Amino acid sequence: MPIDEALRLLEQGAMLIDIRQPWERGEGCPAGSQPLCSEELVSRIPAMGVPDDRPLLLLCAAGIRSRDLAARLRELGWPQAASVRGGFQAWRTAGLPVETGELDAETARYARHLALPEVGEAGQKRLSDSRVLLVGAGGLGSPAALYLAAAGVGNLCIIDDDRVDRSNLQRQIIHSDPGVGELKVNSAAERMRRLNPQINVQALADRLDKGNVDELVAAHQLVIDGSDNFDTRYLINDACLRRRRPMVYGAVLRFVGQVAVFAAGDGQAPCYRCLFPRQASGEDAPNCAEAGVLGVLPGVIGTLQATEAIKLILGIGRPLISRLLRFDALAGTFSETRLVRDPDCRWCRGS
Ligand SMILES: [Zn+2]
Repeated sequence: MPIDEALRLLEQGAMLIDIRQPWERGEGCPAGSQPLCSEELVSRIPAMGVPDDRPLLLLCAAGIRSRDLAARLRELGWPQAASVRGGFQAWRTAGLPVETGELDAETARYARHLALPEVGEAGQKRLSDSRVLLVGAGGLGSPAALYLAAAGVGNLCIIDDDRVDRSNLQRQIIHSDPGVGELKVNSAAERMRRLNPQINVQALADRLDKGNVDELVAAHQLVIDGSDNFDTRYLINDACLRRRRPMVYGAVLRFVGQVAVFAAGDGQAPCYRCLFPRQASGEDAPNCAEAGVLGVLPGVIGTLQATEAIKLILGIGRPLISRLLRFDALAGTFSETRLVRDPDCRWCRGS
């Protein structure tokens, strides 16, 4: 029914029920309405004792869900159920009184995740319980750390022993100019905590090495490789194999970047060493300091790494396991290569 007719009925004592989900009520509820989301209403209505002659007006965000639910309730034996056309949008457009929503901080923060059936409350809880190790607070680590913090990954450990240099700021967007000279992990952790005070951030001003890698990898459920050298990648790969943790790999140079998930150990999926069996020499493996890198490129690749990490934590979608996704910024193309296990790789033999 149109909003003015709904108002007339409300004045005469009709009941107004806001059937939106809790996270949709951030901008408030119609004054005088009762919040009861669809499923709750259906299960509770028999006990509510609504008199047959008391109109029951349902309101959602735009009037579609309320229309369907009103039809369902009429079938279930409440002929007086009706939908407010245009929902809360129409209510606000008409300038009608709104009671401010009092969403708890968590529901408000993750409202857009909670609206996704693939995430929802259960998924958000998984994110909040998850433990991610981020190696490197540089170009790849910056966007990955920010997005994982924003997404509510509850326990993030970031390890890096470097300090912020002004030449980093062209791409390492977690740091800022006043932080030049600071330890990168401190600069990054401060930014992550300001972005999301509800998560635990551990900042390790250390270098990943043989002495600490196993313990760190074992304490986390996956590792994001934001390093920039073969030694560290081999170190992460081997520890991930020993501890059976997925490694979310990313690399960038000049205008091209690539990303993959290595979840080896089953004798089928490849590991990082299957792809790069031996360390390239200095000439074959130019680094960004010498060869340069487009500043936005690690932003794209690090964000893809964060995406893969979130998918793995939630167990949704198709992870980039046995797949290498390559992004060419100049060509504006993504291409995918199927990765196969090297049968001669002694590191990732199934056990
Ligand atoms: Zn291998």
